[in-house]
Amino acid sequence: MYLCNAITMFTRYMKKAVFPGSFDPITLGHVDIINRGVTLFDEIIIAIGENSSKDFMFSLEQRINFIERKFKDNPKVRVMNYSGLTIDFCKEVGVDFILRGLRNPVDFEFEKAMAQTNRHLSALETVFLLTSSQTSFISSSIVREIISHGGDFKKLVPNSVSL
Ligand code: ADP
Repeated sequence: MYLCNAITMFTRYMKKAVFPGSFDPITLGHVDIINRGVTLFDEIIIAIGENSSKDFMFSLEQRINFIERKFKDNPKVRVMNYSGLTIDFCKEVGVDFILRGLRNPVDFEFEKAMAQTNRHLSALETVFLLTSSQTSFISSSIVREIISHGGDFKKLVPNSVSL
């Protein structure tokens, strides 16, 4: 009984963040943000947004599998998928923070509008981590472009990503 209460209390006060995205596929840029995010939060939920109007290169199962295999030894990282608004998903899983990465001014303008909208509609705070200089040029869309032309994409993604 006391143990149950203690666990419930602990879980409630854990600082958790949702890191939402398409992760089509996960790249070393995402990995960098996640590895730095776990130093700030007790748990990171990598949340793969399902969007029926978007054409993905990798299936949802593949995208989940790439992330799970990469972080299999890190108990602070979980993978989930969701549809609908990110703020609704955060409420559902009881998380108060959204984690996002910033690469450039285009990201900044987009992320500013998203974060301000989310703050307007909920109490959620968005925490931004600035991209590392070694991975700032990497994006899932560049990886997909390289793959579609048969190029060597392996240097841009974790080992768990395969065709
Ligand atoms: P979305 O479909 O929401 O753009 P992505 O999977 O492309 O999802 O990206 C998810 C998050 O990861 C975004 O906050 C994005 O800015 C961040 N991100 C992607 N690539 C990098 C990178 N190279 N460095 C830092 N952040 C990145």
